[in-house]
Amino acid sequence: FDQRDGFIWLDGKLVPWADAKLHVLSHALHYGSAVFEGERLYDGEIFKLTEHSERLHKSAEILDFQVPYSVEEIDAACREVCEANGLINGYVRPIAWRGSEQMGVSAQNNSIHLAIAAWEWGSYFDPAARLKGIRMKFAKYRRPDPATAPVRSKAAGLYMICTIEKHGAEREGYADALMLDWRGYVAEGTGANIFLIKDGVLHTPNPDCFLDGITRRTVIDLAKKRGYEVIERHIKPEELADFSECFITGTAAEVTPVSEIGEYRFEVGDITKTLMEDYINLVQPQRAAAVAAAG
Ligand code: PMP
Repeated sequence: FDQRDGFIWLDGKLVPWADAKLHVLSHALHYGSAVFEGERLYDGEIFKLTEHSERLHKSAEILDFQVPYSVEEIDAACREVCEANGLINGYVRPIAWRGSEQMGVSAQNNSIHLAIAAWEWGSYFDPAARLKGIRMKFAKYRRPDPATAPVRSKAAGLYMICTIEKHGAEREGYADALMLDWRGYVAEGTGANIFLIKDGVLHTPNPDCFLDGITRRTVIDLAKKRGYEVIERHIKPEELADFSECFITGTAAEVTPVSEIGEYRFEVGDITKTLMEDYINLVQPQRAAAVAAAG
């Protein structure tokens, strides 16, 4: 992935893709002091760009550092890197981290860097599996207590357990893993929030120890516009037996139906289909029209 054509925005300049490097003594590599964003570019526009740039700022502040560019500058840089790479649809990845001036836990003298890359990226899950619903297993690791980790930050270090769980799931033929939280309630996938449906009502976990995703909030708004009731509450894993539909949401995952979590089964039902369509209609009306035309 590091040897491609194209450009990456690095500390204020566009540099050739293969030259966007950092030193092995970067604090971020040793101590996890990096925060990032994941954004999608749809038909030339980055969806909810400013919300992402603001979240990047907030994520850094939670880790006790400041991104040395304003939200407006980050917005402009994200657009610039998409343009420089000739992208109309794609994925945008800003990342901010502590540099290599000082080695040790303390990072008072380390510079803060910002890089933004963008590339073409289709469906996060296999498109066919996506329509049938993806299969998930239960993860072993749990989302940590907010007293244990900076759970409100989209911090690189918090993904360590997500990668372990994603690998564990993939090894057994599953698409993703469902993580519980430290209390044992249903939390989220390794890179997406979760919704469950019964009797026409959507239930989703309280985001009190994991990311309150931008897609999650968008889908809650879309559901309410449709007149569906949405309940945010603690959900016990054994309650999964009561739900008929399930889907996950995220910038990369968009709205992806789930057919299976552990011993529980779900159908790709009307509410899930409606919200998948509403989401595509919102972010990329041209794709929605193409899907409709194809039947
Ligand atoms: N949870 C985790 C762990 C994630 O990585 C993501 C993706 N950023 C989400 C939830 C969903 O967030 P968003 O909708 O803002 O992409």
